[in-house]
Amino acid sequence: MTNNTCPICGNNTFSKVFDCKDHFVSGETFEIVECEKCKMRITKDFPAENEIGKYYETSDYISHSDTKKGIVNAVYHRVRKLMLRKKAGWIEENTGLRSGKLLDVGTGTGYFAAEMKARGWDVSVVEKNDSARRFAEKNFQLTAFPSIDDFVKKHAPEHPETFDVITLWHVLEHIENLNDTAYQLVTLLKTGGKLVIAVPNCNSYDALKYGNLWAAYDVPRHLWHFRKEQIEMLAGIHGLYMTDVKKMPFDAFYISMMSEKYSRKKFPFIRGMMSGSGGLFSSFSDVTKSSSLVYFLEKE
Ligand SMILES: [Zn+2]
Repeated sequence: MTNNTCPICGNNTFSKVFDCKDHFVSGETFEIVECEKCKMRITKDFPAENEIGKYYETSDYISHSDTKKGIVNAVYHRVRKLMLRKKAGWIEENTGLRSGKLLDVGTGTGYFAAEMKARGWDVSVVEKNDSARRFAEKNFQLTAFPSIDDFVKKHAPEHPETFDVITLWHVLEHIENLNDTAYQLVTLLKTGGKLVIAVPNCNSYDALKYGNLWAAYDVPRHLWHFRKEQIEMLAGIHGLYMTDVKKMPFDAFYISMMSEKYSRKKFPFIRGMMSGSGGLFSSFSDVTKSSSLVYFLEKE
């Protein structure tokens, strides 16, 4: 947060929630603060876009490197396969379409985009990380752009408002200019098109259990920490309304295992599985207890 203004409600008074450590890369500590008006949680003084690159520099950052080492990563890859089919099913069910134009922003190594392409969708992708983008191009023959700006410049001027679906799977929490980006994306959508946003849920069972050790705070890479209420407000600002919310059932297991590792407890795998089960169980009766949520927003 560089200008001390809440991107959701414009308020400028915040209170400290707690300190969070970057367990993944730097070991540095960042403060999580909460907007006193809309309760949006923000990583205070997060690094600017031109400085944040070094906080992604680890071979363990799964979504970029496609690493398969370790039991946690092995589980992650197995689950990802299952989730690809689930995500594709959600998109087709929510839009009522079996093909159409889809833009996947922050595609990582491109597995979801490839799944949609294989199903007959006309898919474009944006990925900022060079090696992930090359992986997506080489392995799945996807046409990838390094930024939304670049994509808009090259493709959209003559074709605005042409997309049926734009997806951001665990991407929005990394994006510095939240409102500018939302505006750009909504401009690319058709009327009635869907913006599909998956983000960690800091009101989840596992978030409340682990507090500042909750792995999905993932400072300083995650700049924003959403609950359903803030996504609803953001949607309202940009002329979108929420038509559905789905839980990502497996995220609770991965995030809980990582949180157990950060807590330096013994048997993080077993403890994580137990805690993940608790999270999954509580999300059956209340979707907003799910570790991550997928929001389906329709352009009015
Ligand atoms: Zn606010």
